[in-house]
Amino acid sequence: MEEAINYLGTHRGNVRVLAGGTDLIPSMRQKLFEPGLVLDLRGIGAMRGIKAGSDGGVEIGALTTLHAIERSELLRQHYSVLTEAASTVASPVLRNMGTIGGNICLDTRCLWYNQSLPWRKGCGFCIKKDGDLCHVAPGGTKCWAAFSGDTPPALLCLDAEIEIAGPAGVRRERLADFYTGLGDNYRQLQTDELVTLVFLPAAAAGYRGVYRKLRVRGSIDYPLAGVAVVMKLSSNGKSVGHIADARIGITAVNPAPLLVKGASELLAGRVLDDTLAEAVGDLAAKTAKPLTTSALTPEYRREMIRVFTKRAVLAAAQWVDRN
Ligand SMILES: Cc1cc2nc3c(=O)[nH]c(=O)nc-3n(C[C@H](O)[C@H](O)[C@H](O)COP(=O)(O)OP(=O)(O)OC[C@H]3O[C@@H](n4cnc5c(N)ncnc54)[C@H](O)[C@@H]3O)c2cc1C
Ligand code: SF4
Repeated sequence: MEEAINYLGTHRGNVRVLAGGTDLIPSMRQKLFEPGLVLDLRGIGAMRGIKAGSDGGVEIGALTTLHAIERSELLRQHYSVLTEAASTVASPVLRNMGTIGGNICLDTRCLWYNQSLPWRKGCGFCIKKDGDLCHVAPGGTKCWAAFSGDTPPALLCLDAEIEIAGPAGVRRERLADFYTGLGDNYRQLQTDELVTLVFLPAAAAGYRGVYRKLRVRGSIDYPLAGVAVVMKLSSNGKSVGHIADARIGITAVNPAPLLVKGASELLAGRVLDDTLAEAVGDLAAKTAKPLTTSALTPEYRREMIRVFTKRAVLAAAQWVDRN
């Protein structure tokens, strides 16, 4: 790993790292990324694997494939929202190659950006690459491309942290602080830094977990709206059946995956019914700010966030322990 970081430092700004390559390679073919060099990380064994952490949680190496996450009994038992979200990414073949680190670092997506060079040239390019205007919000100076990874909303619900290594050393930060909320410079990562580990805290183990996603092609597609829910029911005396704690994360409808503010407070201490589930759905729909960055309309995607959130919290409350 040290060798890789030194290499990134020496060739700062001119290298892209390749984990599974399932997003990097198509993006390079479309000339979205034009690095002089590509550094293949796949030989770094220390960045692969799932194991119990020293603090009682679980550590996942950034190079661990989505297939390994989907199949991990340890994760299924304790962090099922993550295995469910991972199992919806793309297709089995892509999950065999694609990694959790690549999913966290995934570039944001837009109808006007994820296109070939001649296509983008024909439209006069845009702010995210080679141009100075935004086709989605003309007149603005900001890029609104949507973050479209499936596992980050689940990881946010689990209060996950990541380890980042670079020439200046190693730091650990909450995943929630990794994303900037901008469509172009969407993550806080220097060009000579690597995401090396994902930490799932012991406190988040054992929550019921549900992930729901809207996509055009059910067998292989990015989310156009995605909702992750974790929930713990109270097992104490009188309050049995009351929600002790819950969190909701959304993806593909903003430039960053986000936790729905106020959802935990709204749900805590309550017994779930249709009215409460609907209120949480409304809250999630307010957090979602989809724009015309995809083939489906923003109105439909926001509405599906509302519907999926309602369904997901109801499903989490009725969750049957499968282990
Ligand atoms: C047809 C198709 C359908 C897809 N559907 C989905 C989907 O439904 N849901 C979804 O979430 N994704 C989807 N993807 C995207 C992709 O397959 C996954 O997001 C996958 O997890 C990316 O991981 P990777 O290891 O292949 O990343 P790579 O392609 O290797 O890398 C992705 C980006 O992250 C950077 N990177 C990778 N690892 C690190 C690291 N450890 N540290 C720092 N930077 C890093 C790379 O430089 C690159 O910029 C799809 C892709 C295709 C081609
Ligand atoms: S949101 Fe605007 S600037 Fe960003 S990729 Fe789309 S068209 Fe380009």
